[in-house]
Amino acid sequence: MKKRLWRIIIGAIVFVAVIIINLDIKWLQVSLYVVSYIIVGGDVVLKAIRNIFKGKVFDESFLMSIATIGAFLIGEYPEGVAVMLFYQVGELFQSYAVDKSRKSIASLMDIRPDYANVKKGDELIKTDPDEVQIGDIIVIKAGERIPLDAKVIEGSSMIDNSALTGESVPLEIAVDSVVLSGCININGVITAEVTKDYGESTVSKILDLVENASNKKSKSEQFITKFARYYTPIVVVIAASLAIVPPLLIGGATFSEWIYRALAFLVVSCPCALVISIPLSFFGGIGGASRKGILVKGSNYLEALAQTEIVVFDKTGTLTKGVFNVQEIIPTGISKEELLELTAYAENYSNHPISTSLKRAYGKEIDNGRISDVEEISGLGVVAKVDGKKIMAGNIKLMNQMNIPFFKGELAGTVVHVAVDYIYSGYIVIADEVKVDSAKAIKELKAANIKHTVMLTGDNKIVASKVAKELGLDQVYSELLPSDKVEKMEEIFSQKSTKGKLAFVGDGINDAPVLARADIGIAMGGLGSDAAIEAADIVIMTDEPSKIVTAIKISKKTLKIAYQNIAFAIGIKVIVLILSALGITSMWAAIFADVGVTIIAILNAFRALNVRNL
Ligand code: ADP
Ligand code: MG
Repeated sequence: MKKRLWRIIIGAIVFVAVIIINLDIKWLQVSLYVVSYIIVGGDVVLKAIRNIFKGKVFDESFLMSIATIGAFLIGEYPEGVAVMLFYQVGELFQSYAVDKSRKSIASLMDIRPDYANVKKGDELIKTDPDEVQIGDIIVIKAGERIPLDAKVIEGSSMIDNSALTGESVPLEIAVDSVVLSGCININGVITAEVTKDYGESTVSKILDLVENASNKKSKSEQFITKFARYYTPIVVVIAASLAIVPPLLIGGATFSEWIYRALAFLVVSCPCALVISIPLSFFGGIGGASRKGILVKGSNYLEALAQTEIVVFDKTGTLTKGVFNVQEIIPTGISKEELLELTAYAENYSNHPISTSLKRAYGKEIDNGRISDVEEISGLGVVAKVDGKKIMAGNIKLMNQMNIPFFKGELAGTVVHVAVDYIYSGYIVIADEVKVDSAKAIKELKAANIKHTVMLTGDNKIVASKVAKELGLDQVYSELLPSDKVEKMEEIFSQKSTKGKLAFVGDGINDAPVLARADIGIAMGGLGSDAAIEAADIVIMTDEPSKIVTAIKISKKTLKIAYQNIAFAIGIKVIVLILSALGITSMWAAIFADVGVTIIAILNAFRALNVRNL
């Protein structure tokens, strides 16, 4: 970019000098114009020639080359150089803008750790995060970035995870807390055991995701690419006929006059403003969203969000905290302690929020040697052998399937029924809390014109309707298996218009198929739930459902900016094209129009990055 800038400056100085000196010797004057032209625009001509050999004939460097060389051929030397000069200034501005927006997004995403302090004996060795292994002990000092996902074994501190979530309130951590790579350790020194290698750590996943986001093109971007493909050849044909036809048909019309008009016409027709500012708008929108802790995996998803009509939610972990507390333990034939112990053991290998809470309630170390033959049946529960006894723990569907008679009273909570060696041994009632943010999310979705909000859950009817009522959801389906959820989704799909989009929001546990089936799959990042991050199109790092509303607003704003740019650029172009065909504008005005429109469109595109008030 620096080289380009110098070429423009030197070329401009030569050009101005040539005009001022105004040599009487014609051939010398012309050669000096040619020299300044080559300094300023030689690379453009070369690029046009190279592209012709590559089969890409009609691009903007081609348009600029024929327009300026044409100007030379009809003796309009200063115009030829000036057009090229302004074009290059515009290009420079453009690449500066693109570079800047990429950098500002990259700095938002500046979460890549440089090193890890690995503890070997009493020594700390600075190591490339890539080379650290699971189980290694690392030390993170105050002010350092956490290099890999790890579990704290010593020390306590405050953690700034704003780079991942946009959340500015620091998080307190202590022994046993899980820390995520990419966050910053604010004050204390912590020692932690690495739980994931670098490639699997949160930071690599997020970087991957954002770096690949712009590969998926939005419809508006595809439109522009197609548009440019037909537009440029058409413009060239019109320009050619403008140069040739009128002088042949109209008496008194000269070739030089009409060729000049045709060249001005070519200059204006350059579609750079569109080609550059539309992708830049989406880029800005994606960057702005990531500032809010919303990771969008492609421009196409950001675009689709604006057309959302129906939002379907999963319950556990999405609208509720997914942190269950044990309310009641009601054993039959065994002791309370035994019931809880056997259940916690059977659940040991499950990642379901239910299992996590049961293990927490049990509170003691679990001896893996006592567990065998584990099977998790998604949407039902788990079956496993503990001390050789067959334990089944799950909902009424599991009990029915195993033909075990169970307690059938109405219970206000999620119930885990337990059978030991096919004998019913009681149940544990657990309850989850609604997220503080959920009701606000539903209310704001309604305010943002979302027609329909639905909840799907595998949990029982009583719990489901209680939550739905509390949050003001339009519709609720309960006691669904993961496969039923897909089926219900098909049903809900038929309620939306053809243009409208359906978004599904889940936590990735037992709902990956639905996430994939929805037009827009949104996952609660759960800060680490891998399945969710992979299956989803959009990941909400803070786990707040209200971020969906923010995302929709960002989408609408981005689209508005993109459409403004399309309308503005095409509008001005058409006007100036007509004026130059009529011979009202000069080539100077034409190039000003082109560069001006491009710069305004780029500045407008930058607004997409600003999401502070959304
Ligand atoms: P949701 O749709 O609310 O996220 P899931 O589909 O994850 O719920 O689970 C549905 C139901 O299946 C749970 O409410 C629970 O009754 C039962 N279940 C699933 N996994 C387990 C487990 N590991 N232990 C006990 N019960 C389970
Ligand atoms: Mg779930």
